[in-house]
Amino acid sequence: MTELRGRTALVTGASRGIGQVVATRLAARGAAVVAHYGTDRGGAEATVERITRAGGTAYAVRAELGVDGDVETLFTGVEAALAGRPLDILVNNAAAPPVGPLGATTPAAFDHLFAVNVRAPYFIIERALPLFRDGGGRIVTVSSAATRMANATQTSFAMTKGAVETMTRTLANQLGARGITVNAVAPGATRTATNGPAFSTPGLVELIIGMTALDRLGEPDDIADVVAFLASDAARWVTGQVIDASGGLFLGPRA
Ligand code: NAP
Repeated sequence: MTELRGRTALVTGASRGIGQVVATRLAARGAAVVAHYGTDRGGAEATVERITRAGGTAYAVRAELGVDGDVETLFTGVEAALAGRPLDILVNNAAAPPVGPLGATTPAAFDHLFAVNVRAPYFIIERALPLFRDGGGRIVTVSSAATRMANATQTSFAMTKGAVETMTRTLANQLGARGITVNAVAPGATRTATNGPAFSTPGLVELIIGMTALDRLGEPDDIADVVAFLASDAARWVTGQVIDASGGLFLGPRA
């Protein structure tokens, strides 16, 4: 499939997990991909290697998010990689993980979570807008099914994802005039290397699967396909939406 040929994409957090597979998927459909990473240079290089080996085009760009000057650092690298080409697709995927329940979350950890998960995507979008051409632009932010669950261990994390879902609706309304769609994808429990240790907790995987209509954990591929759809022409009439990609996690008691 080469439907994204001639397009460019920036995927944040593309050194591992869901972002790595999203970057690979967009590249497989023809987009030239800027694969952002924070610390895992080897992971980002592996993403680029995987894409180029398959005949695609990709560039690794480093920027620690959630610190002063993060967005400018990111876009210095992005603009160098694009070399004058416009940006067509922005996937805000990078995020910091949950930091614990009320009573165990320090103000510093709370601020960091919001700086990485909310402030960074907001200002990345603002900084990316002049690079977008009018008509056909795509912004996809990765949220979480945590926004519609009441999981006490993830309160502040779920709050950050609620914020980006609100951002998605309001920016969709603002940016529609430029032909840019703005959507979010909300994964449920998805198997990545990072949450591998958590999933090794005895009984946890079975518990999650028992709450999931489609009876399994998610895989990064499951999420990447939805992001790739939202990035495609097929999704031209979809904007301001949060697409749940959780296999039906926590829909209600299962018969
Ligand atoms: P992951 O494997 O932990 O990878 C996180 C990515 O974000 C890495 O590439 C990491 O870069 C980057 N990142 C994190 N903090 C950063 C920072 N401060 N500065 C720069 N880069 C940073 O994540 P994932 O599980 O694939 O999750 C991807 C997205 O899906 C996130 O938005 C997450 O909230 C959401 N999600 C995941 C699940 C799940 O079960 N996996 C469920 C719901 C929602 P480096 O490694 O290079 O530092």
